[in-house]
Amino acid sequence: MGIVVQKYGGSSVATADHIKAVAERVKKARDAGSDLVVTVSAMGKQTDRLLRLAGEVSRSPAPREIDQLLSTGELQSVALLAMALNDRGVAATSLTGSQAGMKTEGRYGSGVISEIRPERLRGLLAEGQVAIVAGFQGTNSLGDVMTLGRGGSDTTAVALAAALDADRCEIYTDVDGIYTADPRIVPEARRITVISPSEMAEMAWRGAKVMHPRAVELGALYGVEIHVKSSFGGGPGTVITGGEDLERLETRETVAGIVHDLDVARVALNGIRTGPGTLSRVFTPLAERGISVDVIVESGMKDGRADVAFTVRRGDFPEAREAMEELAPALGGQAEGEEELGKVSVVGTGMLNRPGYAAKMFDTLGEAGIPIRMVSTSEIQVTCVMRAEEVDGAVRRLHESFELEERDV
Ligand code: ADP
Ligand code: ASP
Ligand code: MG
Repeated sequence: MGIVVQKYGGSSVATADHIKAVAERVKKARDAGSDLVVTVSAMGKQTDRLLRLAGEVSRSPAPREIDQLLSTGELQSVALLAMALNDRGVAATSLTGSQAGMKTEGRYGSGVISEIRPERLRGLLAEGQVAIVAGFQGTNSLGDVMTLGRGGSDTTAVALAAALDADRCEIYTDVDGIYTADPRIVPEARRITVISPSEMAEMAWRGAKVMHPRAVELGALYGVEIHVKSSFGGGPGTVITGGEDLERLETRETVAGIVHDLDVARVALNGIRTGPGTLSRVFTPLAERGISVDVIVESGMKDGRADVAFTVRRGDFPEAREAMEELAPALGGQAEGEEELGKVSVVGTGMLNRPGYAAKMFDTLGEAGIPIRMVSTSEIQVTCVMRAEEVDGAVRRLHESFELEERDV
């Protein structure tokens, strides 16, 4: 009998009634004959609540303690789901990440899965039990709990599917699949029936939080077929699979979707003296602090001086700005920054080697009177940074001008 891994997100287990509904779904899949491993997120906005609590008791809580705290959100949901299943006559056992053999390494708050020891899971499945695994967590070599970063339960699910060589991984959420844009912003957005892992990973990295980007990459790496579906209704959802026709990949003239991200802030160093090694002096202190940098722009040099600007996540903004304020005097320039930014990306392998997509994006935003602050491009995406308040309008206008509501993707 094949193994299926299911994952239910926070909104799918928000209340006791939701958990009972998930139990019914799991029971149905079990009755249909699959061996089941189920991963769940914390109930509703529980992770946010826990983070707020941490902020109330401490100005700078230690990352290790935050992980210890946040991991408890998922523990509540797994235990409750196991009880609801037992009540329905389904043998089920809940496990922490550690009990499920999830080994992690890296930094607290953004741990990466280094290994999964699935013996316990296999044992439970052999007994005919449903194994319910706490999402978003594992333990490091010290035996300490680490979390995988916000939205990381998707990654737990796909990693489990890979480790158990499951038939597929089903991600149940509050939308019935991946859309051409966030349906909360663009009601006319279309559900995508099949999407390649490369496009989906790009969409996820660029901000489509319906999937954790690392989950998509793991799926591609280990050949796990991922189905994204609604936990509230039926429907086929979206399948993320590499089985796309390569000819079509080269000839189709479309983008997959419009993606936005509001977690963007900009830091700049203006009028700095530049020469060989300057950029390394700018970015090394950020790397040392574990701050990821996204869009980078360096102005042309004038009289030996230039401006360098880059974007970071809003949570990293204070530290990034502080680092640049420390550095600025040594380079003879000034640091500045702004926090209320967002970015909008046009994503699709259909753009490969086809000029014109960036121009069309700039045209559309120009006509809408939306100023573009920064730009970054690669083979399969064009991203524009803009003021946060312009983002929703930009997504809608781009969705319209790329005619995403009118064609099959
Ligand atoms: P879960 O709690 O189940 O993990 P998330 O809130 O993380 O759910 O992700 C689901 C949400 O992702 C949806 O409610 C939707 O607003 C948002 N979303 C953003 N971009 C897209 C997209 N392109 N397609 C579908 N949903 C999207
Ligand atoms: N509960 C965690 C979060 O809110 C993990 C997840 O939902 O995937 O980020
Ligand atoms: Mg999620």
